[in-house]
Amino acid sequence: MAIQGIGKVRAHQTQNEGLVFEKSSPGKRGYKLPPLDVPSVDASALLGEAHRENPALLPELSEIEIIRHFTRLSTWNYAIDLGMYPLGSCTMKYNPRVNEFVARIDGLADAHPYRPEELAQGILEVVDLLQRCLIEITGMDAITLQPAAGAHGEFTGILLVRAWHESRGNARKKILIPDSAHGTNPATAAICGYAVENLKSNADGGIDLEALERQVDEETAALMLTNPSTIGVFESQIHRIADILHAKGALLYMDGANMNALVGKARPGDFGVDVMHLNLHKTFSTPHGGGGPGSGPVACKAFLEPFLPTPVLVRRGSNASQASGELHWEYNRPQSVGRVRGFYGNVGMFIRALAYILANGPDGLRQTTEDAVLNANYIRKKLEDVFDLPYKTASMHEVVFSDKRQAALGVKTGDIAKRLIDYGFHPYTVSFPMIVHGAMMIEPTESESLEELDLFVEAMRSIAREVEETPEVVKSAPHSTRVSRLDEVAAARKPILRWKG
Ligand SMILES: *Cc1c(COP(=O)(O)O)cnc(C)c1O
Repeated sequence: MAIQGIGKVRAHQTQNEGLVFEKSSPGKRGYKLPPLDVPSVDASALLGEAHRENPALLPELSEIEIIRHFTRLSTWNYAIDLGMYPLGSCTMKYNPRVNEFVARIDGLADAHPYRPEELAQGILEVVDLLQRCLIEITGMDAITLQPAAGAHGEFTGILLVRAWHESRGNARKKILIPDSAHGTNPATAAICGYAVENLKSNADGGIDLEALERQVDEETAALMLTNPSTIGVFESQIHRIADILHAKGALLYMDGANMNALVGKARPGDFGVDVMHLNLHKTFSTPHGGGGPGSGPVACKAFLEPFLPTPVLVRRGSNASQASGELHWEYNRPQSVGRVRGFYGNVGMFIRALAYILANGPDGLRQTTEDAVLNANYIRKKLEDVFDLPYKTASMHEVVFSDKRQAALGVKTGDIAKRLIDYGFHPYTVSFPMIVHGAMMIEPTESESLEELDLFVEAMRSIAREVEETPEVVKSAPHSTRVSRLDEVAAARKPILRWKG
């Protein structure tokens, strides 16, 4: 299949695939076994009441049909293992295979969460060492690894804030959130029972200190701040922001999703942050999504420690700094906000993140951060003459352009993103952050080589030329996929979630 403007298309992309139910035909089996050489048993008699009267409505297919179905589907997803994934704010970095190797070591992979503590010391040491590494990296005093994602970490962190205020007699009423924030921040505040008050950004995309001073009062529980912000800018006034909040008895929560720009360079605990979350699946190279587990540890200052979710890992018969006594889970913590996740949390992710931290070491982690920032700034330099750059402040790990120049010719950020698919790249983040109209948010991460960055730059520059010469090609992209433009409104409003056989 020839694609307009592009010569090549991957052969597998021409293989369309129906639903597994549509391929079913009665009596087909996915296996062949030799005839029974033992007496057969009547399962319904054995199961009694538990035996279902009618067979479940499951598709019936041969083994090769099943294998092909799922193998084909697996090739439809774009993945970090296929090419650059410049989705801003999400830090889609490479997941090193050594992490996978370590996570599959029998003693770790098979460890049962109900194994008695005295027989689980190995895995508890892994948990403890990761906790200590993350405390060191963030400059905080205490941590919980329970939360299963960034948003879950935010929820846990704001529960700590609430519990601390309540312990002082007043939970307070509102949480301040900058207009550039990720949508999970206001959702978290609301679900924890707080009113959300919007904080307007200044001309550099940062916090307006005067506006902040006016808005913080005795009813403010906390400010939720992303640093570096969602436009990739480091909040250089962060110390003063913390002081303004603390003077009114309010706390500073940091959304640590962008820690890939800070690890080994600056520590939130040193610049006034009281509580924060990390996304192990962003900064620490554990896989994202695909239904797989994430991990959103919450680190806090000592005064919030009594409120951490139970259980908390402690060393028996020694103070915490001594790496000698046995580790055990402590449940008797009367001020705790309670458990937020079953068992240890997503322990497989802890192992991967720890493998990544130890493989890099302190200098390696710092280098990673520097490379991530360098890569983002390389893209900025190579594209700033063709795309509008609304905030000129120094970029950290990501760069946000706008579609202003292309929109004047009728082509929007979403069109350019869809055209990137034809060039073999995952789209960047579209229309976020909200403070940039027509945002194009690009985060290459340190994983990408100079060669891959140059391919991406060339693709973006080529699309910018197309916008001027053949805008209809961009506006109708993608052309290389099985389906092109979907009716996104109908897909959201009238989803078909059930197969009607
Ligand atoms: C990704 C992200 C979150 C949410 O994290 P999840 O792990 O996806 O729940 C919150 N804030 C920011 C800035 C993010 O980029």
